Amino acid sequence: MIFTQEDISQLEHIIAQATNIVLVNHANPDADTVGSALALQNVLLQMDKNVSVVGPNSIPDFMQWMPGQENIVIHDEAGKKVNKLIAEADLLFAMDFNAPHRTANLEKALLEAQAKKVLIDHHLFPDKDYFDLMFSFPNMSSTSELLFDIFRASSLKQYINQTIATHIFVGLMTDTGSFAYSCNQPETFETAAALIRYGVDVKRTHDLIYNNNSVDRLRALGYSLSEKLKVFPEHHAAYISLSSEEIYRYGDREGLTEGMVNYALSIRGVCFAALLTEKGDKIKISFRSKGDFSVNDFARKFFQGGGHHNAAGGKSHLSLEKTIEKLEQLIYKLNIECQ
Ligand code: 5GP
Ligand code: MN
Repeated sequence: MIFTQEDISQLEHIIAQATNIVLVNHANPDADTVGSALALQNVLLQMDKNVSVVGPNSIPDFMQWMPGQENIVIHDEAGKKVNKLIAEADLLFAMDFNAPHRTANLEKALLEAQAKKVLIDHHLFPDKDYFDLMFSFPNMSSTSELLFDIFRASSLKQYINQTIATHIFVGLMTDTGSFAYSCNQPETFETAAALIRYGVDVKRTHDLIYNNNSVDRLRALGYSLSEKLKVFPEHHAAYISLSSEEIYRYGDREGLTEGMVNYALSIRGVCFAALLTEKGDKIKISFRSKGDFSVNDFARKFFQGGGHHNAAGGKSHLSLEKTIEKLEQLIYKLNIECQ
């Protein structure tokens, strides 16, 4: 076990004391933040708690089959309601993010909240001052796997069911790229085995997540790879950039560009990849790397972001053209190697 029995006892005590509980997703929600929050919500509902899941923006299409996601309260759609839930909560859980600013338009309400705050997360550098209790394990594959370990080490274990196991499996499968990275330890596969024993249908779950593309999403991918991918073979780097006009052309749905950066990283000899997407007056950037080059450091240093060693995100308030220029200069300057 990676956490102490003391931490588990404290968690059990905090939950026992709480009536109104709010589970918080990070901005641009992925299946790890959503899966872990829905799993914990299911457990807490069985314990007769008032429990809501809230998030800054909407759930991408590929997760819209997940039981319970339809009740997630989204700040973009119901800002007042989300702020009220947070203000009235006596317990908050940060699921899969390390600091309030990762929740965009929820940040203010979270900073003002009087509730006890618990972190369950696997990102580096948690905001220690903000949280009352932290389960922060950057070596874990996913927040979902961590949450499952917490369940199994505590009295919450009795509530695990097939739906919860499926939520956990979705977070684990997606955060490891279908068991390809961040999972080179037997424990993660033992977790997967345990989840299957709880009734997870691997093929069905995989199909619902990965073989559930809209035509727009595939066409956006095709266009990006044929027209917008720029490769720097000597610098082991590649990036894709999409303007808001181009995104709009393909329907501008949440999740449209999810996973696209991985295609740039999959090129032989490329060890650093970026995806730049224009969103209103800012540019959102996803970074990925193979091997030693830390995109967490890179995103922190140059693009007001962070994340993990091999997967991070950031932003720029320059125009798309100027952001591309800045990124290209950095690619030329940095000596990125493939080990
Ligand atoms: P993605 O590229 O999939 O949006 O994000 C990759 C990873 O970096 C995720 O683990 C995400 O939580 C983290 N991340 C994305 N954007 C930001 C950001 O602006 N700041 C920080 N600190 N982390 C980010
Ligand atoms: Mn995660």
